[in-house]
Amino acid sequence: MATQLRERPDVALPHTTAAGSDLLRDAVLHVREACRILEIDPTTERLLEMPERELTLTLPVEMDDGSVALFQGYRVQHSRLRGPAKGGFRYHPDVTLDEVRGLASLMTWKCALLDLPYGGAKGGVACDPSRMSTRELNTLTRVYARALAPLVGPHVDIPAPDVNTNEQTMAWFLDELERQSGTFQPAVVTGKPLELGGSAGRGEATGRGVAHITRLMLDRLGIPLSEARIVVQGFGKVGYETVVSLVGSGCRIVAVSDVSGGLYNPAGLDIERIDLHLRSQPQRLLGGYSGDDAQIISNEQVLTLPCDALIPAALEGQITSANAHQVQARVIVEGANGPVTSEADRVLAERGIIVVPDILANAGGVVVSYFEWLQGLQGRRWTLEAVRTELDAMLTSAFEHVVARADRSEVSLRQAAFLIAVERVARVARLRGLTPQGV
Ligand code: GLU
Repeated sequence: MATQLRERPDVALPHTTAAGSDLLRDAVLHVREACRILEIDPTTERLLEMPERELTLTLPVEMDDGSVALFQGYRVQHSRLRGPAKGGFRYHPDVTLDEVRGLASLMTWKCALLDLPYGGAKGGVACDPSRMSTRELNTLTRVYARALAPLVGPHVDIPAPDVNTNEQTMAWFLDELERQSGTFQPAVVTGKPLELGGSAGRGEATGRGVAHITRLMLDRLGIPLSEARIVVQGFGKVGYETVVSLVGSGCRIVAVSDVSGGLYNPAGLDIERIDLHLRSQPQRLLGGYSGDDAQIISNEQVLTLPCDALIPAALEGQITSANAHQVQARVIVEGANGPVTSEADRVLAERGIIVVPDILANAGGVVVSYFEWLQGLQGRRWTLEAVRTELDAMLTSAFEHVVARADRSEVSLRQAAFLIAVERVARVARLRGLTPQGV
Protein backbone atom coordinates (compact mmCIF):
# COMPACT_ATOMS: atom_id res chain seq x y z
CA MET A 1 0.00 0.00 0.00
CA ALA A 2 2.81 2.39 0.88
CA THR A 3 4.43 1.85 -2.51
CA GLN A 4 1.14 2.44 -4.23
CA LEU A 5 0.67 5.72 -2.42
CA ARG A 6 4.21 6.86 -3.15
CA GLU A 7 3.80 6.11 -6.83
CA ARG A 8 0.57 8.05 -6.93
CA PRO A 9 1.27 11.28 -5.07
CA ASP A 10 -2.03 12.74 -6.29
CA VAL A 11 -3.82 10.13 -4.19
CA ALA A 12 -1.48 10.30 -1.23
CA LEU A 13 -1.46 14.05 -0.83
CA PRO A 14 -4.41 15.82 0.77
CA HIS A 15 -6.40 18.00 -1.62
CA THR A 16 -4.20 20.84 -2.84
CA THR A 17 -4.74 24.28 -4.32
CA ALA A 18 -2.14 26.56 -5.91
CA ALA A 19 -0.90 28.88 -3.15
CA GLY A 20 0.61 27.30 -0.07
CA SER A 21 0.60 23.88 -1.67
CA ASP A 22 4.41 23.73 -1.87
CA LEU A 23 4.63 24.15 1.87
CA LEU A 24 2.09 21.38 2.42
CA ARG A 25 3.75 19.13 -0.14
CA ASP A 26 7.16 19.64 1.49
CA ALA A 27 5.82 18.97 4.99
CA VAL A 28 4.30 15.69 3.75
CA LEU A 29 7.52 14.77 1.92
CA HIS A 30 9.64 15.34 5.04
CA VAL A 31 7.31 13.14 7.10
CA ARG A 32 7.33 10.39 4.45
CA GLU A 33 11.09 10.43 4.19
CA ALA A 34 11.41 10.08 7.97
CA CYS A 35 8.85 7.24 7.95
CA ARG A 36 10.82 5.45 5.24
CA ILE A 37 14.10 5.70 7.16
CA LEU A 38 12.39 4.68 10.42
CA GLU A 39 10.61 1.80 8.62
CA ILE A 40 7.25 2.98 9.90
CA ASP A 41 4.23 1.08 8.61
CA PRO A 42 1.93 2.66 5.97
CA THR A 43 -1.03 3.15 8.33
CA THR A 44 1.05 5.14 10.80
CA GLU A 45 2.64 7.09 7.97
CA ARG A 46 -0.77 8.07 6.64
CA LEU A 47 -2.00 9.00 10.12
CA LEU A 48 1.03 11.24 10.66
CA GLU A 49 0.76 13.08 7.36
CA MET A 50 -2.99 13.81 7.43
CA PRO A 51 -4.56 16.62 9.49
CA GLU A 52 -6.65 15.31 12.38
CA ARG A 53 -9.38 17.90 11.88
CA GLU A 54 -9.80 21.20 10.07
CA LEU A 55 -12.25 24.03 10.01
CA THR A 56 -13.02 26.39 7.12
CA LEU A 57 -14.93 29.53 8.06
CA THR A 58 -16.69 32.42 6.38
CA LEU A 59 -16.33 35.39 8.71
CA PRO A 60 -18.69 38.37 8.25
CA VAL A 61 -17.14 41.62 9.48
CA GLU A 62 -18.79 45.03 9.55
CA MET A 63 -16.27 47.44 8.03
CA ASP A 64 -15.85 51.11 8.95
CA ASP A 65 -17.82 52.26 5.89
CA GLY A 66 -20.86 50.25 7.04
CA SER A 67 -20.47 47.47 4.47
CA VAL A 68 -20.09 43.83 5.53
CA ALA A 69 -17.00 42.03 4.21
CA LEU A 70 -16.74 38.23 4.19
CA PHE A 71 -13.34 36.83 5.09
CA GLN A 72 -12.19 33.24 4.66
CA GLY A 73 -10.67 31.80 7.83
CA TYR A 74 -9.15 28.45 8.81
CA ARG A 75 -7.99 26.42 11.79
CA VAL A 76 -6.26 23.11 11.22
CA GLN A 77 -5.45 20.77 14.12
CA HIS A 78 -2.88 18.53 12.54
CA SER A 79 -2.29 16.34 15.57
CA ARG A 80 -3.35 16.02 19.19
CA LEU A 81 -1.52 12.78 19.86
CA ARG A 82 1.10 14.22 22.24
CA GLY A 83 -1.13 16.87 23.81
CA PRO A 84 -3.40 19.77 22.93
CA ALA A 85 -2.93 21.20 19.44
CA LYS A 86 -0.61 24.24 19.55
CA GLY A 87 0.12 26.92 17.02
CA GLY A 88 -0.45 30.49 15.97
CA PHE A 89 -2.85 32.13 13.55
CA ARG A 90 -1.87 34.61 10.86
CA TYR A 91 -3.50 37.42 8.92
CA HIS A 92 -2.22 37.63 5.35
CA PRO A 93 -3.77 38.01 1.88
CA ASP A 94 -2.16 34.74 0.69
CA VAL A 95 -3.53 32.50 3.46
CA THR A 96 -5.05 29.30 2.03
CA LEU A 97 -6.24 26.07 3.56
CA ASP A 98 -3.23 24.24 2.13
CA GLU A 99 -0.80 26.73 3.60
CA VAL A 100 -2.44 26.38 7.01
CA ARG A 101 -2.34 22.57 6.70
CA GLY A 102 1.37 22.63 5.98
CA LEU A 103 2.08 25.07 8.82
CA ALA A 104 -0.04 23.01 11.24
CA SER A 105 1.97 19.92 10.36
CA LEU A 106 5.24 21.79 11.01
CA MET A 107 3.93 22.71 14.48
CA THR A 108 3.40 19.03 15.32
CA TRP A 109 7.03 18.26 14.48
CA LYS A 110 8.37 21.41 16.15
CA CYS A 111 6.59 20.64 19.42
CA ALA A 112 7.65 16.98 19.29
CA LEU A 113 11.27 17.91 18.57
CA LEU A 114 11.36 20.23 21.58
CA ASP A 115 9.57 17.56 23.59
CA LEU A 116 6.72 19.91 24.49
CA PRO A 117 3.49 18.17 25.60
CA TYR A 118 1.62 19.40 22.52
CA GLY A 119 0.38 18.41 19.11
CA GLY A 120 0.31 20.92 16.27
CA ALA A 121 -2.17 23.40 14.83
CA LYS A 122 -2.27 26.58 12.77
CA GLY A 123 -4.89 29.11 11.81
CA GLY A 124 -5.22 31.99 9.45
CA VAL A 125 -7.53 34.51 7.86
CA ALA A 126 -7.09 35.68 4.26
CA CYS A 127 -7.08 39.46 4.71
CA ASP A 128 -4.76 42.42 4.28
CA PRO A 129 -4.25 43.83 7.79
CA SER A 130 -2.24 46.80 6.44
CA ARG A 131 -5.46 48.05 4.83
CA MET A 132 -7.73 47.49 7.82
CA SER A 133 -8.41 49.82 10.75
CA THR A 134 -7.83 48.83 14.37
CA ARG A 135 -11.59 48.58 14.86
CA GLU A 136 -11.96 46.27 11.85
CA LEU A 137 -9.11 44.03 13.06
CA ASN A 138 -10.65 43.91 16.53
CA THR A 139 -14.03 42.87 15.05
CA LEU A 140 -12.46 40.29 12.73
CA THR A 141 -10.52 38.75 15.63
CA ARG A 142 -13.67 38.52 17.76
CA VAL A 143 -15.70 36.95 14.92
CA TYR A 144 -12.87 34.44 14.40
CA ALA A 145 -12.66 33.72 18.16
CA ARG A 146 -16.42 33.11 18.38
CA ALA A 147 -16.24 30.68 15.46
CA LEU A 148 -13.32 28.79 17.05
CA ALA A 149 -14.73 28.79 20.60
CA PRO A 150 -16.06 25.20 20.50
CA LEU A 151 -12.71 23.86 19.26
CA VAL A 152 -10.13 25.66 21.40
CA GLY A 153 -9.28 25.42 25.09
CA PRO A 154 -6.26 25.02 27.39
CA HIS A 155 -6.39 21.24 26.92
CA VAL A 156 -7.73 21.13 23.36
CA ASP A 157 -6.09 23.72 21.13
CA ILE A 158 -4.07 26.77 22.22
CA PRO A 159 -3.66 29.54 19.62
CA ALA A 160 -0.85 32.14 19.57
CA PRO A 161 0.52 34.92 17.36
CA ASP A 162 2.00 34.31 13.91
CA VAL A 163 2.53 36.51 10.83
CA ASN A 164 0.74 39.91 11.29
CA THR A 165 -0.90 38.98 14.58
CA ASN A 166 0.46 40.19 17.91
CA GLU A 167 -0.19 40.71 21.62
CA GLN A 168 -3.15 42.98 20.91
CA THR A 169 -4.70 40.37 18.62
CA MET A 170 -4.31 37.76 21.37
CA ALA A 171 -5.86 40.16 23.92
CA TRP A 172 -8.98 40.59 21.73
CA PHE A 173 -9.11 36.84 21.09
CA LEU A 174 -8.82 36.03 24.81
CA ASP A 175 -11.38 38.65 25.79
CA GLU A 176 -13.93 37.31 23.31
CA LEU A 177 -13.46 33.70 24.48
CA GLU A 178 -13.73 34.72 28.13
CA ARG A 179 -16.89 36.72 27.41
CA GLN A 180 -18.39 33.72 25.63
CA SER A 181 -17.63 31.31 28.44
CA GLY A 182 -18.03 33.73 31.37
CA THR A 183 -14.82 32.37 32.91
CA PHE A 184 -11.18 33.45 33.04
CA GLN A 185 -9.07 31.21 30.81
CA PRO A 186 -5.51 32.54 30.81
CA ALA A 187 -4.12 29.29 29.38
CA VAL A 188 -6.38 29.25 26.30
CA VAL A 189 -4.09 31.46 24.22
CA THR A 190 -0.39 32.40 24.42
CA GLY A 191 1.49 35.49 23.30
CA LYS A 192 -0.87 37.67 25.38
CA PRO A 193 0.16 41.02 26.89
CA LEU A 194 1.83 40.69 30.31
CA GLU A 195 -1.14 42.42 31.96
CA LEU A 196 -3.48 39.68 30.75
CA GLY A 197 -1.32 36.78 31.88
CA GLY A 198 1.35 36.85 29.19
CA SER A 199 4.90 35.71 29.91
CA ALA A 200 8.03 37.78 30.31
CA GLY A 201 10.20 37.21 27.26
CA ARG A 202 7.48 35.85 24.93
CA GLY A 203 7.75 38.82 22.55
CA GLU A 204 11.46 38.36 21.95
CA ALA A 205 11.41 34.55 22.18
CA THR A 206 11.32 33.46 18.53
CA GLY A 207 14.05 35.89 17.45
CA ARG A 208 16.14 35.23 20.53
CA GLY A 209 15.89 31.51 19.78
CA VAL A 210 16.87 31.99 16.12
CA ALA A 211 19.90 33.99 17.28
CA HIS A 212 20.80 31.37 19.87
CA ILE A 213 20.69 28.56 17.30
CA THR A 214 22.70 30.71 14.85
CA ARG A 215 25.40 31.22 17.50
CA LEU A 216 25.53 27.48 18.23
CA MET A 217 25.87 26.75 14.51
CA LEU A 218 28.60 29.36 13.94
CA ASP A 219 30.45 27.97 16.91
CA ARG A 220 30.22 24.48 15.46
CA LEU A 221 31.62 25.77 12.17
CA GLY A 222 34.47 27.50 14.02
CA ILE A 223 33.41 31.00 12.93
CA PRO A 224 34.05 33.57 15.72
CA LEU A 225 30.96 35.71 16.41
CA SER A 226 32.95 38.93 15.99
CA GLU A 227 33.85 37.90 12.44
CA ALA A 228 30.47 36.49 11.41
CA ARG A 229 28.65 38.29 8.60
CA ILE A 230 24.92 37.84 8.91
CA VAL A 231 22.07 38.56 6.50
CA VAL A 232 18.46 38.69 7.71
CA GLN A 233 15.51 38.69 5.31
CA GLY A 234 12.34 39.98 6.98
CA PHE A 235 12.40 42.71 9.59
CA GLY A 236 9.16 41.98 11.41
CA LYS A 237 9.11 40.79 14.98
CA VAL A 238 11.21 37.65 14.38
CA GLY A 239 13.82 39.28 12.13
CA TYR A 240 14.10 42.31 14.40
CA GLU A 241 14.59 40.36 17.63
CA THR A 242 17.06 38.06 15.89
CA VAL A 243 19.13 41.07 14.83
CA VAL A 244 18.96 42.67 18.30
CA SER A 245 20.21 39.48 19.93
CA LEU A 246 22.98 38.87 17.37
CA VAL A 247 24.21 42.47 17.54
CA GLY A 248 24.26 42.09 21.33
CA SER A 249 26.71 39.22 20.95
CA GLY A 250 29.00 41.15 18.65
CA CYS A 251 27.93 39.83 15.22
CA ARG A 252 28.04 42.01 12.13
CA ILE A 253 24.68 42.37 10.37
CA VAL A 254 25.59 43.08 6.75
CA ALA A 255 22.07 43.16 5.29
CA VAL A 256 18.43 43.33 6.33
CA SER A 257 15.27 43.60 4.26
CA ASP A 258 11.49 43.72 4.37
CA VAL A 259 8.69 44.11 1.80
CA SER A 260 9.80 47.69 1.15
CA GLY A 261 13.37 46.69 0.18
CA GLY A 262 16.77 45.88 1.60
CA LEU A 263 19.87 47.58 3.03
CA TYR A 264 23.42 46.26 2.55
CA ASN A 265 26.79 47.21 3.93
CA PRO A 266 29.58 44.60 3.87
CA ALA A 267 31.27 46.43 6.77
CA GLY A 268 28.13 46.08 8.94
CA LEU A 269 24.92 48.11 9.18
CA ASP A 270 24.21 50.76 11.81
CA ILE A 271 21.31 48.92 13.45
CA GLU A 272 20.60 51.66 16.00
CA ARG A 273 20.14 54.19 13.25
CA ILE A 274 17.91 51.80 11.28
CA ASP A 275 15.88 51.25 14.44
CA LEU A 276 15.34 55.02 14.83
CA HIS A 277 14.11 55.15 11.23
CA LEU A 278 11.64 52.28 11.86
CA ARG A 279 10.28 53.95 14.98
CA SER A 280 9.73 57.20 13.08
CA GLN A 281 6.88 55.79 10.97
CA PRO A 282 3.69 53.87 11.76
CA GLN A 283 4.24 50.96 9.33
CA ARG A 284 7.80 50.36 10.61
CA LEU A 285 9.25 49.72 7.16
CA LEU A 286 12.88 49.99 6.03
CA GLY A 287 11.99 51.88 2.81
CA GLY A 288 13.01 55.55 2.89
CA TYR A 289 16.02 54.92 5.17
CA SER A 290 18.65 57.47 4.26
CA GLY A 291 21.77 56.43 6.18
CA ASP A 292 24.83 56.80 3.95
CA ASP A 293 26.22 53.57 5.44
CA ALA A 294 23.86 51.40 3.42
CA GLN A 295 23.37 50.46 -0.19
CA ILE A 296 19.70 50.01 -1.18
CA ILE A 297 18.97 46.56 -2.64
CA SER A 298 15.84 44.47 -3.20
CA ASN A 299 14.20 42.04 -0.81
CA GLU A 300 15.20 39.20 -3.18
CA GLN A 301 18.81 40.32 -3.61
CA VAL A 302 19.54 39.89 0.09
CA LEU A 303 19.18 36.13 -0.32
CA THR A 304 22.19 35.85 -2.61
CA LEU A 305 24.68 38.10 -0.80
CA PRO A 306 28.01 36.67 0.41
CA CYS A 307 27.73 35.95 4.15
CA ASP A 308 28.34 33.35 6.84
CA ALA A 309 24.73 32.97 8.00
CA LEU A 310 21.63 33.76 5.97
CA ILE A 311 18.47 34.00 8.06
CA PRO A 312 15.23 34.06 6.05
CA ALA A 313 12.75 35.33 8.66
CA ALA A 314 9.82 36.44 6.50
CA LEU A 315 7.54 33.96 4.73
CA GLU A 316 7.70 30.50 3.19
CA GLY A 317 9.03 29.66 -0.28
CA GLN A 318 11.83 32.26 -0.44
CA ILE A 319 14.75 30.00 -1.40
CA THR A 320 13.66 27.80 -4.28
CA SER A 321 15.21 25.91 -7.21
CA ALA A 322 15.29 29.32 -8.97
CA ASN A 323 17.76 31.01 -6.59
CA ALA A 324 19.35 28.22 -4.49
CA HIS A 325 22.28 28.07 -6.95
CA GLN A 326 23.10 31.71 -6.21
CA VAL A 327 23.07 31.51 -2.41
CA GLN A 328 26.51 32.46 -1.05
CA ALA A 329 25.98 31.67 2.64
CA ARG A 330 27.79 28.97 4.61
CA VAL A 331 24.68 28.21 6.60
CA ILE A 332 20.99 29.06 6.31
CA VAL A 333 19.03 29.34 9.56
CA GLU A 334 15.27 29.17 8.93
CA GLY A 335 13.74 31.96 11.02
CA ALA A 336 10.44 31.71 9.10
CA ASN A 337 8.40 28.55 8.65
CA GLY A 338 9.21 26.83 5.36
CA PRO A 339 11.44 29.47 3.71
CA VAL A 340 13.52 26.81 1.87
CA THR A 341 11.65 24.48 -0.52
CA SER A 342 12.57 20.80 -0.75
CA GLU A 343 14.03 21.31 -4.25
CA ALA A 344 16.23 24.11 -2.88
CA ASP A 345 17.23 21.84 0.02
CA ARG A 346 18.69 19.36 -2.48
CA VAL A 347 20.59 22.03 -4.42
CA LEU A 348 21.99 23.51 -1.20
CA ALA A 349 23.06 20.10 0.09
CA GLU A 350 24.93 19.43 -3.17
CA ARG A 351 26.67 22.77 -2.76
CA GLY A 352 27.64 22.00 0.84
CA ILE A 353 25.44 24.73 2.34
CA ILE A 354 24.02 23.69 5.70
CA VAL A 355 20.34 24.37 6.47
CA VAL A 356 19.18 24.58 10.08
CA PRO A 357 15.48 23.66 9.80
CA ASP A 358 12.60 25.84 10.96
CA ILE A 359 11.27 23.27 13.42
CA LEU A 360 14.50 23.71 15.38
CA ALA A 361 15.62 27.24 14.50
CA ASN A 362 12.39 29.13 15.21
CA ALA A 363 11.07 26.95 18.06
CA GLY A 364 11.87 29.61 20.68
CA GLY A 365 8.41 31.14 20.28
CA VAL A 366 6.45 28.02 21.04
CA VAL A 367 8.85 27.06 23.85
CA VAL A 368 8.06 30.31 25.67
CA SER A 369 4.39 29.84 24.78
CA TYR A 370 4.67 26.60 26.73
CA PHE A 371 6.13 28.52 29.70
CA GLU A 372 3.26 31.01 29.40
CA TRP A 373 0.70 28.19 29.34
CA LEU A 374 2.27 26.64 32.44
CA GLN A 375 2.16 29.99 34.22
CA GLY A 376 -1.50 30.41 33.22
CA LEU A 377 -2.45 26.96 34.51
CA GLN A 378 -0.60 27.51 37.78
CA GLY A 379 -1.36 31.20 38.36
CA ARG A 380 2.36 31.92 38.70
CA ARG A 381 4.82 34.30 37.09
CA TRP A 382 8.34 33.53 35.98
CA THR A 383 11.06 36.19 35.85
CA LEU A 384 12.58 37.18 32.52
CA GLU A 385 15.84 35.66 33.66
CA ALA A 386 14.17 32.30 34.39
CA VAL A 387 12.43 32.31 30.99
CA ARG A 388 15.65 33.10 29.12
CA THR A 389 17.73 30.54 31.00
CA GLU A 390 15.18 27.78 30.47
CA LEU A 391 14.64 28.72 26.81
CA ASP A 392 18.36 28.71 25.99
CA ALA A 393 18.81 25.37 27.75
CA MET A 394 15.94 23.70 25.88
CA LEU A 395 17.11 24.99 22.51
CA THR A 396 20.71 23.96 23.17
CA SER A 397 19.61 20.49 24.12
CA ALA A 398 17.42 20.13 20.99
CA PHE A 399 20.26 21.46 18.82
CA GLU A 400 22.73 18.95 20.23
CA HIS A 401 20.24 16.16 19.85
CA VAL A 402 19.63 17.04 16.17
CA VAL A 403 23.35 17.38 15.39
CA ALA A 404 24.11 14.04 17.05
CA ARG A 405 21.29 12.31 15.14
CA ALA A 406 22.47 13.85 11.84
CA ASP A 407 25.99 12.53 12.48
CA ARG A 408 24.78 9.10 13.60
CA SER A 409 22.29 8.56 10.76
CA GLU A 410 24.37 10.44 8.16
CA VAL A 411 21.49 12.69 7.18
CA SER A 412 20.90 16.45 6.96
CA LEU A 413 19.90 18.50 10.00
CA ARG A 414 16.35 18.70 8.64
CA GLN A 415 16.12 14.96 8.17
CA ALA A 416 17.55 14.42 11.64
CA ALA A 417 15.03 16.81 13.20
CA PHE A 418 12.15 15.04 11.43
CA LEU A 419 13.49 11.62 12.42
CA ILE A 420 13.46 12.58 16.10
CA ALA A 421 10.04 14.24 15.93
CA VAL A 422 8.31 11.61 13.80
CA GLU A 423 9.68 8.80 15.95
CA ARG A 424 8.23 10.45 19.08
CA VAL A 425 4.77 11.01 17.61
CA ALA A 426 4.67 7.53 16.05
CA ARG A 427 5.44 5.98 19.44
CA VAL A 428 2.54 7.84 21.03
CA ALA A 429 0.19 6.72 18.23
CA ARG A 430 1.20 3.12 18.96
CA LEU A 431 0.90 3.50 22.75
CA ARG A 432 -2.58 4.93 22.29
CA GLY A 433 -3.46 1.85 20.25
CA LEU A 434 -4.23 3.81 17.09
CA THR A 435 -1.64 2.16 14.89
CA PRO A 436 -0.24 -1.34 14.53
CA GLN A 437 2.07 -2.72 17.22
CA GLY A 438 5.77 -3.11 16.53
CA VAL A 439 6.44 0.37 15.09
N1 GLU B 1 3.67 31.09 15.45
C1 GLU B 1 4.80 30.56 16.15
C2 GLU B 1 5.39 29.37 15.40
O1 GLU B 1 5.21 29.22 14.22
C3 GLU B 1 4.51 30.28 17.62
C4 GLU B 1 3.39 29.32 17.88
C5 GLU B 1 2.98 29.21 19.34
O2 GLU B 1 3.57 29.88 20.18
O3 GLU B 1 2.07 28.45 19.60
O4 GLU B 1 6.13 28.60 15.95
